[in-house]
Amino acid sequence: MAHDVDLFVIGAGSGGVRAGRISAGYGARVMVAEDYRVGGTCVIRGCVPKKLYVYASRFADEVDEAKGFGWEAGEPRFDFAALKAAKDKEIDRLEGAYRNTLGNAGVTLVETRATVAGPHAVRLADGRTVTAGTILVATGAWPYLPSATPGIHLAETSNDIFEWTALPRRVVIVGGGYIAVEFACALSRMGSEVTVVIRRDKVLRGFDEDLRDALMNEMAQSGIRILTGTDVVGLDGRPGNINVTLLNGDGIAAEHVVYATGRVPNTKGLGLLEAGVELDADGAIRVDRFSRTAVPSIYAVGDVTNRVNLTPVAIREGHAFADSVFGGREVAVDHSGIPSAVFSTPEIGTVGQTEDEARALGREIVIFRTSFRPMKATLSGSPSRTLMKLVVDKATDRMLGVHILGEGAGEMIQCVGIAMRMGATKRDFDMTMAVHPTAAEELVTLRTPVAG
Ligand code: NDP
Repeated sequence: MAHDVDLFVIGAGSGGVRAGRISAGYGARVMVAEDYRVGGTCVIRGCVPKKLYVYASRFADEVDEAKGFGWEAGEPRFDFAALKAAKDKEIDRLEGAYRNTLGNAGVTLVETRATVAGPHAVRLADGRTVTAGTILVATGAWPYLPSATPGIHLAETSNDIFEWTALPRRVVIVGGGYIAVEFACALSRMGSEVTVVIRRDKVLRGFDEDLRDALMNEMAQSGIRILTGTDVVGLDGRPGNINVTLLNGDGIAAEHVVYATGRVPNTKGLGLLEAGVELDADGAIRVDRFSRTAVPSIYAVGDVTNRVNLTPVAIREGHAFADSVFGGREVAVDHSGIPSAVFSTPEIGTVGQTEDEARALGREIVIFRTSFRPMKATLSGSPSRTLMKLVVDKATDRMLGVHILGEGAGEMIQCVGIAMRMGATKRDFDMTMAVHPTAAEELVTLRTPVAG
């Protein structure tokens, strides 16, 4: 049966754009629907603008630390509105580049909401139906807000931060995951008074315990107030002047309250269940290793599948989908050993198993760890410390995990990730000559285990 297109992609984010472009390159007739802006979360209101804000915030330290190296400058002034305008301009440019990518690949972009109307049919918001040989759902995820909390309508999410035109004096951030710690560190350095409210005793559940402790210390030292073991029971007031009530009855006044309490897959109202696509308990689309759903002609990639919710993973999944369905070779994405970074300040780079994970798997392990003041701190006076930790398998000497907190951790962990993928042993690290003087050289000069 002839369809209108070979592939219909719902969502022009990282996964959808890559899948559409590569499929078109294989000769498929591709249509992509997007109801917001081309580029998705990463480009428009995620990784990219976030990293620009993180860069902006770190100049606060640089200006201060430069004094130790003989620099004298006037009193620094930070213009948040100027940063936002520059950010908006860059995001517009990137969105244009994404549009060009699709156009140059011969992909048709329809700027409207699309829903699944059957195994081979998609309905557009204007009522038109498009038939497709294959449908790819790449609709991403959306911030989760606990709707039962009284006054939750006063809360904002990371999406809203990128629309702020002025830096708030006081901000409350609820949650202790990636997004919470990244914005807490960035907004605090820009000059806001930041309070983080977490229901457990530490931020970043799932990360290595030493890293979690060290980051909490660094955050507290830089002036961020972290309230642990509590929760928000209600918000009242009005936008710009909100009172946050905690479990013990204490109140905190803030201009903005940001919830960074996780994200939920964008599957509601997409017609998926009606078409026979299966969802899990969290509403994520169930897929096999080739990103195929329970309906053979419908696939899904990226955050909507809630596998590993990172941009490079969505891109790989989108590419593998195109190779498998239109490129004539089945490719499954390997979701193991993915290096990742958290752009807190100081930042985190991590790959492989944490100490607790390795022990829980019943492995005998050897731990190497160092915590030091980086060389720059000797003159800058910064109290910040760098932490590095290696988790090594005792029996095979294989490196099971590498965890870094400190300047450049994100950059370092990308390279460590290659070594880990190649099956590096501790001896391989030891045999590698150090690059001196760097912080990264500690990774290859650690000789004395702290635990085994
Ligand atoms: P995370 O899942 O990382 O963290 C959610 C946080 O919110 C946790 O601290 C969790 O606490 C807390 N929480 C959840 N529900 C509630 C609730 N009802 N009340 C109070 N606290 C709650 O989500 P994020 O929103 O930070 O980020 C979403 C995903 O986006 C990440 O998992 C990651 O995959 C991706 N991301 C990646 C980045 C990067 O690579 N640098 C940057 C930003 C996002 P608890 O620990 O108790 O469950």
